[in-house]
Amino acid sequence: MVDERILEIKNYIGGDFIDSPRGDFLGVFEPATGRQFASAPLSDASDVDIAVEAARTAQPSWGALGIRERADWLERIADALEERHEEVASLESRDTGKPISLARSVDATRSVSNFRFFAEMLRSQDQEVFEMADASNFVVNKPVGVGALITPWNLPLYLLSWKIAPAIGMGNSVVCKPSELTPMTADLLMRVFDEIGLPEGVVNLVHGDGIGAGSPLVSHPGVDFVSFTGGTSTGGKVAASAAPSFKKLSLELGGKNSSIVFSDCDMQSAVSGVARAGFLNQGQVCLCGSRILVEGSIYGEFRERFVRHVEQMKVGDPSNEGTELGALISRDHLEKVLGYVELAKEEGGKILTGGSRCSPDGFEGGNWMLPTVIEGVGADSRCATEEIFGPLVTLHSFESEEEALGIANNTRYGLAGSVWTGDLERGRSFSEKMETGMVWVNSWLHRDLRAPFGGVKDSGVGREGGRWSLGFFSEAMNVCVKRD
Ligand code: NAD
Repeated sequence: MVDERILEIKNYIGGDFIDSPRGDFLGVFEPATGRQFASAPLSDASDVDIAVEAARTAQPSWGALGIRERADWLERIADALEERHEEVASLESRDTGKPISLARSVDATRSVSNFRFFAEMLRSQDQEVFEMADASNFVVNKPVGVGALITPWNLPLYLLSWKIAPAIGMGNSVVCKPSELTPMTADLLMRVFDEIGLPEGVVNLVHGDGIGAGSPLVSHPGVDFVSFTGGTSTGGKVAASAAPSFKKLSLELGGKNSSIVFSDCDMQSAVSGVARAGFLNQGQVCLCGSRILVEGSIYGEFRERFVRHVEQMKVGDPSNEGTELGALISRDHLEKVLGYVELAKEEGGKILTGGSRCSPDGFEGGNWMLPTVIEGVGADSRCATEEIFGPLVTLHSFESEEEALGIANNTRYGLAGSVWTGDLERGRSFSEKMETGMVWVNSWLHRDLRAPFGGVKDSGVGREGGRWSLGFFSEAMNVCVKRD
């Protein structure tokens, strides 16, 4: 029985908002209070069938539109989404537990930028031609067909828009499956599509969990490509399920990233930059730097200033302007992160600050934890090498570049990293030796949407961003025309 005060969202299929016919729902909970505030359909394979059918029906005429017409649609989406900026930010903050300031600056703002950026990229596409003495090779970028877009809970609308914009921009139609923990802004985006009259079936959405809705979507014979962002173990299942039918596949997976602090860094900006890298979104960003490697000669001073900085970070009501850390996504996830605090103690770690739950006034039922800094665990311990994905960082000291590089590369992951040094040449050459997809020197998460985004090793397969996204969401065909 659904409570009357609870918002009910629906699947969006073929231009209609519909319930799963079986009437099963999943509860949507506010991480900050632990209270249910919405419900979404718990879809299954039969809902996925209808959504894929709607996408297949829509794709030919959508794909036949000129690229400029599709760019205009992306621009219209951006305009309509921008009008709802504050609504997006407050809904995302409520659904994820993140601070409103972050939901405004990242989730609401950058979702709009994603649509605008790809609209602009589509408009600037030139016909690529490779000339031979007696022939011309024309590159034709065709749509792939129907795509499955599967996203996690940490940056719900941002990551969904990052996939939808290039996918439909290149003439594909899609079926989206957002995280069951954070379905609300995906629903808002579907309402935006509906409002502006995006042709029906171009974007469809089924709510539900991974087993019931995600898995049948990936294996569906009517799906031509899969773009997945989520955990590494789920990515393995998605890859295995997509492989037998040779679906085009992009995987953006987990990370365990290092922040490397050299003794010649600007200490003040390194302390605040490394703290931001460690704790943004409560440490729940795949790029977060949760293993902090500090050169021995400045280790003591860095540790002292870093811990003081972390202790001053404001944890509390996500809707407060000044809040820096909100709640963790779920009770289960909080327990998992707290489990790593216990493991750190077993691994010889000393808690320098945090290490426990907290309970801001009025939010006693939520999933709260203090930002936590630990030292003393080995650089190859489980705490220092496994993805924790919470407000917990470990400190380690090193004596040489070689040692720092060895520690940084000693994980199964290879997503991102940051290097802090006054010597930009050294910063660059050190970064190039790191086994990761992205490194920032003297910054973190300073994103240019044209640059490649993605990981190596167990952090993923393929790249997103700029021309890499357009390449993934299209099939390049060569037409060779021989002259007399
Ligand atoms: P998750 O893997 O549990 O879930 C991600 C999505 O996959 C959800 O929508 C889920 O319902 C769906 N899913 C689950 N099982 C499935 C299956 N068998 N088949 C198809 N879909 C299935 O991840 P999460 O807990 O939502 O997100 C956190 C993880 O995402 C972290 O590991 C984080 O590092 C990673 N992440 C990576 C990036 C990146 O760009 N590399 C970005 C954000 C998050």
